[in-house]
Amino acid sequence: MNGKIVVYSPGRANLIGEHTDYNDGFILPFAIKRYVKIEIEPSKKFRVFSEQIKKGIEFNTLEKTNSWADYVIGMIVKLKEHGYDVKLFNMKIDSDLPMGAGLSSSAALEVGVGYAILSMMNYDINREELAKIAHECEVEFVGVRCGIMDQYAVALSKENHALFIDTMTREYKYIPFHLDSARIYLVDSGIKHELGSSEYNKRRKQCELALEAMGKKSFREVTMEDVERLIEPVLKKRALHVITENERVLKTLSALETENLQLVGRYLYESHYSLKDNYEVSCEEIDFMIEQFEEYADIYGARIVGAGFGGSVIVLANENFERIFEKVSQKYTTKFGIIPKLLTVETSDGVFRLE
Ligand code: ADP
Ligand code: MG
Repeated sequence: MNGKIVVYSPGRANLIGEHTDYNDGFILPFAIKRYVKIEIEPSKKFRVFSEQIKKGIEFNTLEKTNSWADYVIGMIVKLKEHGYDVKLFNMKIDSDLPMGAGLSSSAALEVGVGYAILSMMNYDINREELAKIAHECEVEFVGVRCGIMDQYAVALSKENHALFIDTMTREYKYIPFHLDSARIYLVDSGIKHELGSSEYNKRRKQCELALEAMGKKSFREVTMEDVERLIEPVLKKRALHVITENERVLKTLSALETENLQLVGRYLYESHYSLKDNYEVSCEEIDFMIEQFEEYADIYGARIVGAGFGGSVIVLANENFERIFEKVSQKYTTKFGIIPKLLTVETSDGVFRLE
């Protein structure tokens, strides 16, 4: 076994396909050039240190700790369950990927830890299997009921491409995503409404109820006529979002193929209004920001991302955006007393090892 191994594991953003990943739908994420960095070397005991937490832990047993270390311990447990041998190691974690900001630092950590361990043990790495193991770690060990998007995007992405994923079959393909003069920005709204996670669970339940009421097993079998027949207005709106969002993802693929960024942008705005009016997961502050953005021709489109009730906005625009952002940001701060933060993102390869 050789000495120290260094692995970089990226965060991710999702261009379009929101609240579709747990509804057998389509998503279009891409990895971003912000990374969890993992250094690993064989050792006499399991030892893990995180620069961000400013803490290290040592452990002999693989029990749950209900702390950040569970993302590491869970990967050891799951790799073993899948038949991989895992020897004792010393691990150092560092990161420029903000935690809990919707850029999926958790999946970056899981996938990165898995990649580092498998590299240390000299295994050939199957990225798809790694993504599945990391997803199992998050759902079964850490206990977060999430879709497969994050781990797939972190493990499988390619620079200058978006990753189209059919979450029903787990099939994926690479979509060239050349931006030329355009840019992708993420604006952190600075808002985090408390009801986030309870409303997320409520939406999942409502989607199940809508399917039941339509007599369908999967949203992939649902047509617009089925939705029209729904009597309960809330369920109808939720179903409407899911099926139109899936259509928008497919239309975005075509628009990317013809490099029509104006059209991609329009689908982003449409996605936002569907999330606002039909799925009802936006908030006043972000709606205000989107309305401001719509005034500018330099901005192709924008939408709220993630579970909702605050969080970030993804923007597709040309390079004049930074100047526009200054103006919008001032208005936003005057109105809400909060300073939004701007992050420029670039597409990245999935997890990789520094040679
Ligand atoms: P997100 O995935 O959107 O960033 P999550 O709540 O799913 O948010 O995951 C964040 C958690 O992942 C953190 O609370 C922490 O437990 C763990 N984590 C992420 N990055 C690090 C890091 N650099 N060091 C230690 N723990 C980390
Ligand atoms: Mg996460």
